[in-house]
Amino acid sequence: MHTLMEVEYEQPTSESVCAPRHAWARVPVEPGPAERLALKDRIRRLLKERNAVMVSHYYVHPDLQDLAEETGGLVSDSLEMARFGRDHAAQTLVVSGVRFMGETAKILSPEKRILMPDLDATCSLDLGCPSAEFNAFCDAHPDRTVVVYANTSAEVKARADWLVTSGCALDVVRALKDQGHKILWAPDKHLGSYIQRETGADMVFWNGACIVHDEFKAFELQALKAEHPEAKVLVHPESPADVVALADAVGSTSAILNAARTMDATTFIVATDNGMLHKLRTQNPHKLFIEAPTAGNSATCKSCAHCPWMAMNGLAGLAQVLELGTNEIHIDPALGLRARVPIDRMLAFTAALKNGQPTTGLVPHIGAA
Ligand code: SF4
Repeated sequence: MHTLMEVEYEQPTSESVCAPRHAWARVPVEPGPAERLALKDRIRRLLKERNAVMVSHYYVHPDLQDLAEETGGLVSDSLEMARFGRDHAAQTLVVSGVRFMGETAKILSPEKRILMPDLDATCSLDLGCPSAEFNAFCDAHPDRTVVVYANTSAEVKARADWLVTSGCALDVVRALKDQGHKILWAPDKHLGSYIQRETGADMVFWNGACIVHDEFKAFELQALKAEHPEAKVLVHPESPADVVALADAVGSTSAILNAARTMDATTFIVATDNGMLHKLRTQNPHKLFIEAPTAGNSATCKSCAHCPWMAMNGLAGLAQVLELGTNEIHIDPALGLRARVPIDRMLAFTAALKNGQPTTGLVPHIGAA
């Protein structure tokens, strides 16, 4: 049983104008307590029988996060999900998240079987950046290095020079700028402008937005800060600039987790998908986490801080795909090879950073590209 939600998102019609578009999300009804336990037992058994491993995003239902961890899988951001899936020995990966995450897993591991609880779980950034329009945008800026966010289709990735996640975008763009590159950025305009402000890079932007983070409101956040003057504000950079300006820490989901663990505070206001609160509260049981306001009672709220497509991942769908082997991701092999190039660049770059190795050899000087 599902609830069907209508979702409005924006798609650029030119470099500066956006038009509303409509999509839908099929959100499963929560199982009752007995059914929930039975589904979890069935999934544990099927994971073993199918030699499968779960990879879940921080924004999916807490049950899918907990099951992934207790069965030897991973809960993480999209960068670590991609890396873990590629390196794990299991031949079947069950990706709980949205479609581009399953596609990225397939591109990196074409020999593996990638299953998802619901293949229609998508993302406003992916939907709002169709490949034909994006290719025309790139064609209009032939002198720019194309950097795309992970939240894109395989076709858009195939056109890119670099793929980034919010965890590594600043480092990659800074390195490109240092080597003389001018950047074409897509699809999230808020993340792109945050990176431009931080790095001073020469960038042009695709005009996309995340329907969850785009809804956080600075005015209401200021009022909440006044109510909790002791609280630190943690903001994901897909949020609007006036919300980012109020942050004590800005960063990816992993960076937000790190800030909550290490900052000298016991109360935090969190501006990202509220699926993150499960991990934040589990890791910091003595700290208080408050959702940043989306002005959710107003007419403009499209998500109320929870992604309707992440919400499509449920226990019943997961059990079913493991049982039947349905909902498999397929990518045309030639397209997958092209789309893998920018992903491999990102993984090599972030691995070098992590190991304290120089990254200059991985980023060509613009004259030598
Ligand atoms: S939270 Fe935003 S960026 Fe993430 S999948 Fe949903 S719409 Fe896309």
